[in-house]
Amino acid sequence: MIPVSSLKDRAVALFGLGGSGLATARALLAGGALVTAWDDSPASVEKAAAEGIATGDLNTADWSGFAALVLAPGVPLTHPEPHWTVRRAQAAGVEVIGDIELFCRERRRAVRRPAFAAITGTNGKSTTTALLAHLLKVGGRDVQIGGNFGPAILGLEPPKAGRVYVIECSSYQIDLAPSLDPAVGILLNLSPDHIDRHGTVEHYAAVKERLIAGVEAGGTAVVGVDDDFSRAIAERAEATGKRVVRLSVQQKLADGVFLDGTDIVESEAGERKFSFSLKGIGSLRGAHNAQNAAAAYAGARALGLAPEVIAAGMASFPGLAHRMEQVRTLGNVLFVNDSKATNADAAERALTSFEDIYWIAGGKPKEGGIAPLRPYFSRVRKAYLIGVAAQEFAATLGDDVPHEICGTLDVAVARAAEDAADDAAKATADAAATSKLQAAVTKLQPAVVLLSPACASFDQYRNFEVRGDAFRALVNALRDV
Ligand code: ADP
Repeated sequence: MIPVSSLKDRAVALFGLGGSGLATARALLAGGALVTAWDDSPASVEKAAAEGIATGDLNTADWSGFAALVLAPGVPLTHPEPHWTVRRAQAAGVEVIGDIELFCRERRRAVRRPAFAAITGTNGKSTTTALLAHLLKVGGRDVQIGGNFGPAILGLEPPKAGRVYVIECSSYQIDLAPSLDPAVGILLNLSPDHIDRHGTVEHYAAVKERLIAGVEAGGTAVVGVDDDFSRAIAERAEATGKRVVRLSVQQKLADGVFLDGTDIVESEAGERKFSFSLKGIGSLRGAHNAQNAAAAYAGARALGLAPEVIAAGMASFPGLAHRMEQVRTLGNVLFVNDSKATNADAAERALTSFEDIYWIAGGKPKEGGIAPLRPYFSRVRKAYLIGVAAQEFAATLGDDVPHEICGTLDVAVARAAEDAADDAAKATADAAATSKLQAAVTKLQPAVVLLSPACASFDQYRNFEVRGDAFRALVNALRDV
């Protein structure tokens, strides 16, 4: 735990007692703050009280005595409207901050500041955070990873010299961290998302920009420049004298890190300094992962890792669960768990990363359904539809893609596994009959049973993790035939 010393002996209001709220309350108490914790859910308040955290109804509290309101990131700060605690704090002139802000203050107080990389973006945050932490570990560094991904930041080990914090930051967390000042700030990409919480895409982008604009003196801003918002942010950061490393998976850069075929290339003044291949790294398939790899490369370089060490580390990255996770190969069939793909946009990445797909899709549908995925339908041998969305998706697939309504995941896995195994066996036999070379090629490209639902999971599961775990268990229970 990282005791928060900056609010020692001060009265602090804390609202939101989920996992990160509890970790924050403990860290504040350990640092000597006088916490009054509260939540709209009585069960959460009870749980906090049971472990000795002082709770009190902030509705009836005297706000004039509080030094700060520490808010959990899930609680609305501005949109759709400020939470009632935020209004109370503002009326009383009390600052509203979150756990990452408290961490930044603690880090600045450390005798020897530890390194701190902060990662944000609309997509790819967790993968990049995990990958950068993995690379640093391979490079022998003492790494703490957390934030929006993994443990709450204040639940991590305290700062010490030589330690590196690799922290995923959601836009909500950045919004609550006015003095966010990473040594390495990484912005992967920006596209409209979470507008319900930020009002407009411009406001959302402005919040994300703070992670780059805040990069400390002597630090490095790493920015993906494949979208207009991020490109403008990189330019503004550079104009203020920051060191900016640009990333692209769409164009070659004279200065920066970019994708060239399957190679990640670092260039400087038009010269190629270093390159390595992503070919064959199953955990980093697809252009989106190339963006994440480029970002982690640039981040690790900025933190002093040698290019060769980074390249070696890429190859041993195990990947994250539920994001194009390779569960198992059975015969010539690969099973991939992409349960995190809760919308068409995310499912698109998986559909572009494989051929010969036996696609399990459906759940609680999002607006637009799978119509935007039409350009990839030709890669789908057959679709297995589950959940509330099944009928709607069947109508979209129409005569273009063979499909069946399976209803539940167990039926879908069984049917898809059967069909894929049959077709794979047939393809191998056909190819062997044609030529040896063709047989070898077929072997290299297995059929893929892909769970990439393009839907939320809530109609049948508690969340996408539970759905992905169920898929993994079903696949692991399949018998080799
Ligand atoms: P986040 O933490 O930002 O939600 P993740 O790393 O968990 O991102 O990846 C979630 C999903 O987003 C992946 O399964 C993939 O479909 C997609 N994705 C990952 N990285 C990127 C990227 N750089 N650009 C676009 N989409 C991405």
